[in-house]
Amino acid sequence: MRLPIIAGNWKMNNSISESIELIGAIKAHDLDEGVEAVVCVPYTSLNEVKRVLEGTTIGLGAQNMHWEESGAYTGEISPAMLKEIGVDYCIIGHSERRQYFNESDDIVNKKVKAALNYGIKPILCVGETLEEREAGKEQKVVREQLLRALKGIEGHEIENIVIAYEPIWAIGTGRTASSDDANSMCGFIRGIIGDEYDETIKGNIRIQYGGSVKPDTIEELMAQRDIDGALVGGASLVADDFVSLINY
Ligand code: PEP
Repeated sequence: MRLPIIAGNWKMNNSISESIELIGAIKAHDLDEGVEAVVCVPYTSLNEVKRVLEGTTIGLGAQNMHWEESGAYTGEISPAMLKEIGVDYCIIGHSERRQYFNESDDIVNKKVKAALNYGIKPILCVGETLEEREAGKEQKVVREQLLRALKGIEGHEIENIVIAYEPIWAIGTGRTASSDDANSMCGFIRGIIGDEYDETIKGNIRIQYGGSVKPDTIEELMAQRDIDGALVGGASLVADDFVSLINY
């Protein structure tokens, strides 16, 4: 049985005080204990949100990290720094980082490995553009992203990774993939994991869908066989909406 995981990606939103207010509003609700909830907040809010989350089952995530432990990388944050704060998860390879900050599959691979080495669980994002989907290349693109991101990662490490299938054309656009299309790609990803690793890992790895998930679409998505959760941007910024997603 795979534990469903609903993760909020706050992106570059919320000051420290706004973060405290939002997380306080979320934790004031009764949350389904059969669902793992995670909030991926800006670096500046990690410490304070960690403090507010104490005594709850909500996990804490970062949205990015460097792969080195320390060094001359001005402006970067290392996995060791995140670990010290007590971060559980880190989003890696989000399409916005690939698109605006030139993150290659090679960099994504280094970050996934570094996160695992520090006991931080990567939420590894893969997904195709609209042009790639319209050209019928979505499986090829996702397969390549996945295999490159997982290069050199051993079977015993893989179950600490959550994979997020996020078609780029559905992120922040209000346009959700149909539950069939989302499930079909998540099943395709699961199949690749089975081919590269084994049947147990294939059955255990958690795969999220991400792309304009809202309270009125979550139930149908979560009813699909190969979708184990959601990575959520916009709707994670509204406490009631995020709570509805966790309690789908
Ligand atoms: C995301 O940022 O990963 C995302 C899926 O955003 P949204 O839910 O706003 O589409």
